[in-house]
Amino acid sequence: MIEVRNLHKKFGPLHVLKGIDLTVANGEVVSVIGASGSGKSTLLYCINRLEPINEGSVVVDGVDVHAKGTDINKLRQKLGMVFQQWNSFPHLTALENVALAPKIVRGLPKKEANELAAAQLNHVGLGDKLTAFPSALSGGQQQRLAIARALAMEPRYMLFDEATSALDPELVGEVLDTMRLLAEEGMTMICVTHEMGFARDVSDRVAYFHDGLMEEIGPPSQIFRDAVSENTRKFLAKVR
Ligand code: ADP
Ligand code: MG
Repeated sequence: MIEVRNLHKKFGPLHVLKGIDLTVANGEVVSVIGASGSGKSTLLYCINRLEPINEGSVVVDGVDVHAKGTDINKLRQKLGMVFQQWNSFPHLTALENVALAPKIVRGLPKKEANELAAAQLNHVGLGDKLTAFPSALSGGQQQRLAIARALAMEPRYMLFDEATSALDPELVGEVLDTMRLLAEEGMTMICVTHEMGFARDVSDRVAYFHDGLMEEIGPPSQIFRDAVSENTRKFLAKVR
């Protein structure tokens, strides 16, 4: 379970998160939507401690993420993250990219790491690309490679930060399909996304962020058909 309590985050004088409360249960998929600059990415960065926080807490499986003694490497193994831009190593094959962290961070023997990597590449539909270099892959394939790399750590949670925003429109679907597959398999996910179809069809709950606050959260049926907040309705009218 991920528990965010009264989370405040400032960048200097800029108050970016103004008291966020969010609990994500195991197996749940939460999509986070909202205008650019509303603090969506910052929330994800605070959850896996890529950014320090100013107030409040983030607790993952009972562990206080921002406490001094917390084993940050152990924590990050639980929290897979996929960014907007693919970030694979260009000089390594797809298999080597996925096997790298299991070998180095988890200390798996080479054979085991390679088997795990091949299985995860299969999982995301790249079973025929094991020896391909990232430059030979399409943007959609590169994002699926990034997902396979995250999965190779056998995380309990996946955080997606606009995983499809940098892609050509015709490549978005294959990445969303992969995310949908993970959701169906029961992965707990927080997905910052501009894909309203995905948010509506795949999420258990949708959170609307507005100016550093979680203005509204609820099942897709509420957010998309029956939003309580005027700002939620205005935002959705603009993006649909
Ligand atoms: P979103 O993902 O919703 O577009 P972000 O979380 O990226 O929004 O950013 C929220 C606000 O925080 C924006 O005003 C952004 O410019 C600012 N911000 C984000 N990261 C930093 C940073 N490292 N330093 C200073 N300001 C930042
Ligand atoms: Mg962002």
